[in-house]
Amino acid sequence: MDTNAWNAAVAFHGHACPGLAIGVRAALAARDHFAAARAEDEQLVCVCENDACGVDGIQAILGCTAGKGNLLFRLRGRQAFTFFERKSGRSLRLVLRADIPDLPRAEKIEWLLNAPEEAVFRRTAPRCGMPEPARLFRTCVCEVCGEPAAEYAMRLQDGRTVCLDCFSPYDRGW
Ligand SMILES: [Zn+2]
Ligand SMILES: [Zn+2]
Repeated sequence: MDTNAWNAAVAFHGHACPGLAIGVRAALAARDHFAAARAEDEQLVCVCENDACGVDGIQAILGCTAGKGNLLFRLRGRQAFTFFERKSGRSLRLVLRADIPDLPRAEKIEWLLNAPEEAVFRRTAPRCGMPEPARLFRTCVCEVCGEPAAEYAMRLQDGRTVCLDCFSPYDRGW
């Protein structure tokens, strides 16, 4: 167990909890698997299937961050993390096992950090493709509220360019 990594993650997250331990464990497994240093650019990408405490472990240890565009959410309410290495195309998906022992909080954290990886996660093939690198978009000004936003987030309505908050979706299920 890498105590420095755990301490850094706790400092980043603000408290120690089992959820954070899950993310830290996934991050350490990915770090070993790809022999990755902190992701300074977008080399290592994480697609996270939840938006819970563990995400902060990924950010603190791997440097996959929301702001850099190499931490993406694919919300499934599931403790699963998929990692992609852009250069090599290699991937790794870790899913928390369903039979994690039910322990008191402090012991659960210890268990999650120290149990053999096979007891904590199942490794599977990715359930999504590698996300494309972040693109740059032109900025458009919403003709209703006047706020600028990226082109991908604009819609046409009554012949005007409008932002998603000013747009009323017309979705009849097609
Ligand atoms: Zn937490
Ligand atoms: Zn608007």
